Amino acid sequence: MTSPAAGTAAAHSAERPDVLVVARLWPPMMEALHGAFHVHDRVHQGEPAAFAAIAPRVRAIAASGESKVTREMMAQLPALEMISVFGVGYDGIDVAAARERGIAVTNTPNVLNDEVADLALGLVLAVARRIPQADRYVREGKWSAGPMPLARKVSGARLGIVGLGRIGMAIAKRAEAFDMSIAYTARSEKPGASYRYFPSAAALAAEVDFLVVITPGGAGTRKLIDAKVLRALGKDGYLVNVARGSVVDEAALVEALTSGTIAGAGLDVFENEPNVPAELLGLDNVVLTPHVGSATWQTRRAMADLAFGNLEAHFAGRPLLSPVP
Ligand code: NAP
Repeated sequence: MTSPAAGTAAAHSAERPDVLVVARLWPPMMEALHGAFHVHDRVHQGEPAAFAAIAPRVRAIAASGESKVTREMMAQLPALEMISVFGVGYDGIDVAAARERGIAVTNTPNVLNDEVADLALGLVLAVARRIPQADRYVREGKWSAGPMPLARKVSGARLGIVGLGRIGMAIAKRAEAFDMSIAYTARSEKPGASYRYFPSAAALAAEVDFLVVITPGGAGTRKLIDAKVLRALGKDGYLVNVARGSVVDEAALVEALTSGTIAGAGLDVFENEPNVPAELLGLDNVVLTPHVGSATWQTRRAMADLAFGNLEAHFAGRPLLSPVP
């Protein structure tokens, strides 16, 4: 005989699947989730007893690209069937552990390519042409004392892309319109791409003026951009990171920026977000943005539709729209 509590829980989950939200998700996405599911918003961060009470019923997790979903967490969720990530990066999800249990993982590829590529080019332009500094120059009334020091030309310069995937290709397409000569590195050469391939980030850095990083995060790319790569980029070179903070050795980057080993950096992502090292905040040759690669209304809407669409498809028994490979 089932206990009354278990009976209620069973009836409840038969109506609306229980979904654990493990990140602060975009409010319209939360609204959509509340409309279709029994939502438990970050209950895992609250009272252990409250989490223990709902854990047996949780059938899906809604996560963000920055969320951590570990093997240990999944072990506490015996009914877990899928994890829907609102973001393309899923380096915080233990996909191997999910796979072992047959738990599906989905993300939101492609719909954010344009947006992240736009920001990457924006950071290239901002750091080379010193656009934020120029804005401050005008506001602080320095213009009347004389012109700003000259900046660095972007059109026609040499661009190196670390990670020629979906977003990397969108960056290359934009850079073509700037008449940039484009080269790249990735784990393997892309036969379909007409750009020059370098087998390592250091070899690529030595041949370019701007090095844009757009790989996934996680163990495979940790500190891929280290002191050696920055030395290869050299005193006239600029680094732009729109990938993950973990891909760049942040201490080595601070040292390279302060010592003049490289000319400047445009950074959207950091090792320990939202904390940005004080040294970076004090530097004039960096442009900093708060992880806003995909942060427009239009793109967040498209990401929400896909992340929600994956949950809907799963519970309707339809094929997932974008399972991670
Ligand atoms: P993707 O299509 O999977 O492309 C990833 C590229 O990185 C591939 O070319 C891959 O090479 C390369 N790569 C992987 N490991 C590498 C390594 N160890 N060394 C060199 N290259 C490596 O992914 P995407 O859709 O373009 O997204 C890329 C990443 O952008 C995401 O995972 C996420 O971390 C980041 N992102 C950031 C923001 C933001 O807000 N700033 C927004 C969206 C995404 P192979 O093809 O040879 O494997």
